[in-house]
Amino acid sequence: MLPDRVGRAITASAGPIVFLTGAGISAESGIPTFRGPEGFWRVGSRNYQPTEMATAVAFARMPAEVWRWYLFRRGVCRSAAPNAAHRALVRFEKRAGDRFLLVTQNVDGLHLRAGNSAARTYQIHGNADFCRCMRGCLPVVRELPVKLSESWEKERSLDDAELATLRCACGEWLRPHVLWFDESYDEPVYRYVSAQRAAETAAALIVVGTSGATSLPTRMCETVAARGAPLIVVDPEPTVFSAVAEASARGVYLRGTATEIVPELTEALGALALGRGV
Ligand code: NAD
Repeated sequence: MLPDRVGRAITASAGPIVFLTGAGISAESGIPTFRGPEGFWRVGSRNYQPTEMATAVAFARMPAEVWRWYLFRRGVCRSAAPNAAHRALVRFEKRAGDRFLLVTQNVDGLHLRAGNSAARTYQIHGNADFCRCMRGCLPVVRELPVKLSESWEKERSLDDAELATLRCACGEWLRPHVLWFDESYDEPVYRYVSAQRAAETAAALIVVGTSGATSLPTRMCETVAARGAPLIVVDPEPTVFSAVAEASARGVYLRGTATEIVPELTEALGALALGRGV
C-alpha cells in the first residue's frame, strides 16, 4: 500500500506518527462535511453558509440562532457512531502508545467516543459537546448544560429557559467551544503550538478527509513536506494536500474513503514503525 521510499523513511525515524483528520473521516458515520449540499443554514428568508454562521460576528448579532445551529449539528453528531476508520485509529494508539498523536479538526467528539485518549488527541477546532464563557470565566471549558436535549429538530428554537442555561454565572453568554472562522488558534485551548511542533518531528503525517481550507493543517502539511518526511493523504477527491503530497519526495496520495483506506493503512504503518507483533 505504501511505496518503498515512504516505508523506508518511516522505519528509519523514531518520531511520532501523526494523524490529521477532518470532516471526511466522519462522513461515513453520517455527519455531513461543510462542502456537501447540506452545508447551509436558514435564518428567516436568508441562507447562511457555515463560514458565516461559525463566526464571532454572527454570534454577536444573533446568539440564539448560532446556538440553534450548533445544537442541531451537535444532535447529528450525538446520533452518529464511530466508523471503521475511527476504530482503526484507536487500535493504532493502543499499539503505538506515545508514538501516536491525533490532531483533529472535527468538533464531533467521535475520536474520543471511539476510545482515543484525550491526552493524545488535539481537538484544534474544539468540541461541540462543550462551551466557554464569552468573558473567559473558569472553568474555561465546560460541558453543555444538561437541560439541553442531545437531539435537536432543525426548525426548533430555544425557549427562554434554555437560553437562560446558556449564560455564565457572571451573566455573559456561554459560547460553543469551537474555533470560529474569524478567530485565531491558540495553545491553551486549541493546542496550536503543540500541533505545529508535532509536524516538526513527525516520522509521518497522515491526513484523512480534509479539504485544506484551514490554516494550521496547511502549515503542518507544508512543514512535513519541507522536511522531506512522509506525507500520506487519504481522500476520495484530490485536494490541495494531495497535490502537496504528490509533489513531495516522500509523499503519497491514497485515493479512497476513510473506511476503505485507514484500517489497512494503520496496519501497514504499525508493521513499519512499530515492528510486527508489537
Ligand atoms: P471540508 O468539508 O472542507 O472537507 C472534507 C474533506 O473530506 C473533502 O476533501 C472531502 O473530499 C473529504 N471526504 C468526503 N467524504 C470522505 C470520506 N468518506 N472519507 C475521507 N474523506 C472524505 O472539511 P474540513 O477540511 O474538515 O474543514 C472544514 C471545517 O469544518 C473544520 O473546521 C471542521 O472543524 C468543520 N467540520 C467538522 C465536522 C465534524 O466535526 N464532523 C463536520 C463538518 C465540518
